[in-house]
Amino acid sequence: MSGMKNQASQVVSLNRLPVRQLRLLKQIGRLADERGMSVYLVGGVVRDLLLKRENWDLDLTVEKDGIAFAKLVADRYGAGLAVFERFATARLVFPDGLKIDIATTRRESYAQPALLPTVRLASIEEDLSRRDFTINAMAVQLNSGQFGRLLDPYGGQRDLRARTIRVLHKGSFQDDPTRIFRAIRFEQRFGFHLERTTLRLLAQAASTNLIQQLSGPRLQNEILLLLAERDPARAISRLAQLKLLRFLHNRLGYTPTVKRTVTAVPEAVAWWVRRFQGSVIDRPIVYLMALSSESSPAVVATMIRRLSLSREQAKRVGSGGCRVDRVLKKLTDQGIVRPSQAYRLLEGFSDEALVLFLAKQLGRQQGVGLRLLQRRLTAYMKNRTMKTSLTGRDLQAMGLQPGPQYKTILEKLLDACIDGVVTTEAEERAFVRKWLS
Ligand code: ATP
Repeated sequence: MSGMKNQASQVVSLNRLPVRQLRLLKQIGRLADERGMSVYLVGGVVRDLLLKRENWDLDLTVEKDGIAFAKLVADRYGAGLAVFERFATARLVFPDGLKIDIATTRRESYAQPALLPTVRLASIEEDLSRRDFTINAMAVQLNSGQFGRLLDPYGGQRDLRARTIRVLHKGSFQDDPTRIFRAIRFEQRFGFHLERTTLRLLAQAASTNLIQQLSGPRLQNEILLLLAERDPARAISRLAQLKLLRFLHNRLGYTPTVKRTVTAVPEAVAWWVRRFQGSVIDRPIVYLMALSSESSPAVVATMIRRLSLSREQAKRVGSGGCRVDRVLKKLTDQGIVRPSQAYRLLEGFSDEALVLFLAKQLGRQQGVGLRLLQRRLTAYMKNRTMKTSLTGRDLQAMGLQPGPQYKTILEKLLDACIDGVVTTEAEERAFVRKWLS
């Protein structure tokens, strides 16, 4: 409390929030008054209100018992409630879909660096003191008499004005090395810079093996969040500059070729979603593939394990690596002539890998090769949905003994359909008969 007392209270306008949210926050403030509780808006939304950036992720924190208060709000509004006792937090989902998170103000102590902390209840000031950076360590009170009162014990506003990312204390990165990645994420997102001491502490923490101690899922979360930023290329350069890529794999290099591929990802994704409307591309995964696009399959496999990627993610990322080059070479020269040849080359690659093909080509010389590739990808996407009219059952009816040759014949038949050699069911039958004889 002491640090706060001398501070003249400043009021932040919440009018930038949508009316629905604003009204709800006022009502929540009154509800807290009735119960004699203090409730605050905290973290990213406060920072973004001050930055005049849109962010409607409402994180609330309540002194003493956030979960009891969350239950009260849920009852009052008929909202769905999920409680996470271990973190003293609850998530409310209102009937119209609006979500808010309510936490209990808490203090965290780190028994061991890089592991999850022990949590104890605390005042709002202590709660702010456990946060990562000054710009994220501000709160706005919601109780009606104090609605909009800003709590800024660490100079968050000053740092917002100075466009600075600053930790609250020396041991911050040691306590929680995920903050290393968070620092870079915010620095690049806002175009801020790391304050001098913070940069030194970060570099120091990065030079130890602290990040190695982070669990796979925690490291994955940070990396994918970073790659989900609007323009991750700069953040990736920063990771490389601070020698942080080695924590994904010590042989992962940010060579000029990789950099060109990474830089071309936005254009590749844009082309893809324009051309194949309705398709969904996992962008962070494309970036991860671009980043490892010159690496051997063994390096990619180790990186996948280190990040504890899900089976689905692993499959996508695993189909990248330098294997892509061999196929890309064939796809961008005049050598292949039949559409079925391109089909067979591309079959089995995830959409993310196909976008990577494009990014790689965009990053190289473009010209004829790029146009060929785009044409072949377009044809492939159309051909991918093509099916033969005949099935195994038809082959059986035609007197063919079931066995592995079914697969071969149906593949040949599909190739013929793709190449437009056969177009009707009668032609398919004739094709099979001819092939058999
Ligand atoms: P974003 O805009 O990316 O969602 P955010 O600031 O809202 O950013 P969250 O990860 O949602 O980030 O976290 C909410 C708040 O919780 C942060 O603003 C910060 O105060 C605190 N916080 C989150 N992660 C950490 C951490 N690793 N260490 C300390 N405080 C953290």
